[in-house]
Amino acid sequence: MRNVVIIGSGPAGLTAALYSARANLSPLVIEGLDAGGQLMLTTAVENFPGFRDGIMGPDLMANMRAQAERFGAEIVQGRVSAVAANGQTITVTTDQGPIETRALIIATGASAKLLGLPNERALMGHGVSTCATCDGFFFRGKPIAVVGGGDSALEEAIFLTRFASKVTLIHRRDTLRGSKIMQDKATANEKIEFEWNSEVIDVKDTAKGAVSAVVTRNLKTGATKDIPVDGLFVAIGHTPNTSLFTGWLEMDAAGYLKTHDGSKTNVPGVFACGDVQDHIYRQAITAAGSGCMAALDAEHYLEASG
Ligand code: NAP
Repeated sequence: MRNVVIIGSGPAGLTAALYSARANLSPLVIEGLDAGGQLMLTTAVENFPGFRDGIMGPDLMANMRAQAERFGAEIVQGRVSAVAANGQTITVTTDQGPIETRALIIATGASAKLLGLPNERALMGHGVSTCATCDGFFFRGKPIAVVGGGDSALEEAIFLTRFASKVTLIHRRDTLRGSKIMQDKATANEKIEFEWNSEVIDVKDTAKGAVSAVVTRNLKTGATKDIPVDGLFVAIGHTPNTSLFTGWLEMDAAGYLKTHDGSKTNVPGVFACGDVQDHIYRQAITAAGSGCMAALDAEHYLEASG
């Protein structure tokens, strides 16, 4: 019987591991296929406090992992196929077998939806990004494209005009899904141009290891063209990684876990932190902060339940 099992190894999961390891709870972290989470898809991270000159996303995650391990957190690879509670025992079923625990911290994150283009993955962190707050700064004075027509795309496009010389918003229809107020702000912004009824069919230039243009196809006319840009921000929504918990843990309409009083879910002893329960802030630092909260909440729960 473990004291604490943590599912997920992004900033939320590893911070929960650090705190619960330092509370002598010997946590077990189960990391999935995307070990390290979304920061593994980024290059320089300049907004994580404590790194004056920034740090590469994968290096930050390696540091977090080593820091948690230094205090005794055990990290294993595994695919969780089921989770269930029986009284005060929670059973996490993995491909290595079942694990019983008194407390469970869920930090499975959310995945940014991608367009599915081969070059989009290849250039991720090298001009392709899913986070304007994280990467906008790198595109000072340069033209950028944003894909999507929802509030995220509009918000990112507006935010990016602080840095970019021009932002082209590429949307597959001729009406936006985002809220009226965001639409008004975006259409009034002189730096934003709209490319309607268009889909991105390729990103150039993998040979250079940087983005030089996006290739679009007009869905009405079939015409294709290159739009020269230095960055492509994909803002077509996120999917929380919560399918495992359907019917067991309370979720909002979009599938994010609902938490109350800090990190508590509707099941006693089960806590959630990071992007799996946050569709608003989605930052490494907020995820790490909520991982700390989940570890402290789990510790208090274990103390109270003897
Ligand atoms: P969303 O509302 O689901 O919008 C996704 C957008 O991406 C849609 O315009 C969709 O096009 C487009 N899209 C989806 N898949 C695509 C694909 N494969 N290729 C090209 N385009 C694709 O997602 P979101 O913008 O992330 O917003 C999620 C929720 O958070 C919403 O409720 C939103 O209001 C909220 N939010 C609010 C704020 C704010 O208030 N400041 C900021 C961000 C998010 P279609 O329109 O054609 O389907």
